[in-house]
Amino acid sequence: MSHSQSWIDRGLAHVANTYGRYPLVAASGEGCWLTDIDGKKYLDFLAGVAVNNLGHCHPKVVSALQDQAGRLMHCSNYFHIPQQIELAEILCKHSFGDRVFFCNSGAEANEAALKLVRKYSADTYGHGRFEIITAQNSFHGRTLATISATGQEKIQAGFAPMMPGFKYVPFGDIQDIRAAIGPHTCAIMLEPIQGEGGINVPPEGYLQAVRDLCDQHKLLLIFDEIQVGLGRTGTLFAYQHDNIEPDVMTLAKALAGGPPIGAMVAREKYAVALGPGTHGSTFGGNPLLAAAGVAAMKVLLEDSILDNCIAMGDYLRTQLEQLQEQYPFITHVRGRGLILGMELTIDGAGIVKTALERGLLINCTVGNVLRFVPPLIVTRKEIDLMLVILDKILSELETGE
Ligand SMILES: *Cc1c(COP(=O)(O)O)cnc(C)c1O
Repeated sequence: MSHSQSWIDRGLAHVANTYGRYPLVAASGEGCWLTDIDGKKYLDFLAGVAVNNLGHCHPKVVSALQDQAGRLMHCSNYFHIPQQIELAEILCKHSFGDRVFFCNSGAEANEAALKLVRKYSADTYGHGRFEIITAQNSFHGRTLATISATGQEKIQAGFAPMMPGFKYVPFGDIQDIRAAIGPHTCAIMLEPIQGEGGINVPPEGYLQAVRDLCDQHKLLLIFDEIQVGLGRTGTLFAYQHDNIEPDVMTLAKALAGGPPIGAMVAREKYAVALGPGTHGSTFGGNPLLAAAGVAAMKVLLEDSILDNCIAMGDYLRTQLEQLQEQYPFITHVRGRGLILGMELTIDGAGIVKTALERGLLINCTVGNVLRFVPPLIVTRKEIDLMLVILDKILSELETGE
């Protein structure tokens, strides 16, 4: 029995069975490559679901972690934490934000945002304004409040009752949002591009129109940039493509280059609503994770990562579009920068499984959209290698091999 198989058997026996896991036992990673416990190498176009934007084990992140681990890993948020302060400064300097709350995941960042908009609205208008408009096919996390915010029945199924106060509208239609605004509405929460929902890019001008509606009705605009922020679309934050700014933004995934961290960034005017005692997190922004965050942000800002993302994103997109011309079962190629989706008329699970067997990691959202989210440091050579593997699989599908 291979080394992998014995780990798989042990995992199936005692680890919560909440993921349909592929038969890969991860051992190490470097750049765009993941190695399993038996030494097999995989080209990683999943990147921990858009977490490993700087590649696996970026040396500057590793050395920041090693250094900080030997100095101070954790202390309470009762005290001031230099690494956390520095990370907050970097995020505010490069965004619309004035103040950052740190936590440990995307769901927690969204929880903080949901609490903030309710608290601000209660403080400002009294208790009647609490409703938040979100989009169908959105994804905001797996806690009870964030599945309530998530406009997908399959994610809510079995966990009723949902937290009240959410209204779901089709993504990309401004009339539907306008119609959904009522006397109880306090905020609109959207992903600038829907990730888990199938790499859905809204029509040109949509986000601007949503911003205008928020201004008109004095609603807060929350952008969930957990997947598309931090360079993934070619700008530091996805909202920067549209020349608008949200009032609140949530980050997580790639923020610390691998280690778990989440952040809610807000304008001062709204951030004051969460004063001392209103919210908190034991680990949020602790010295170890914040040090990794500072290191990861410096690499992202200083090492031409965004330029590479734009260039490689253009290249990959063009190549995927060429595959679309070749294969009738590919109906759409969409996305921005290095978050690209390929919609198929057929189920994508088989392609993902075959790719894995042949040493390529990709995944599939909503059943039929292949998702490509490689590290932002990916090279043209690695993209070409990925395309060879993918093209072969697609050609076998077509000829029924
Ligand atoms: C991944 C993701 C989340 C949830 O993040 P977790 O760290 O898994 O809690 C929320 N929103 C979006 C858009 C995501 O992609």
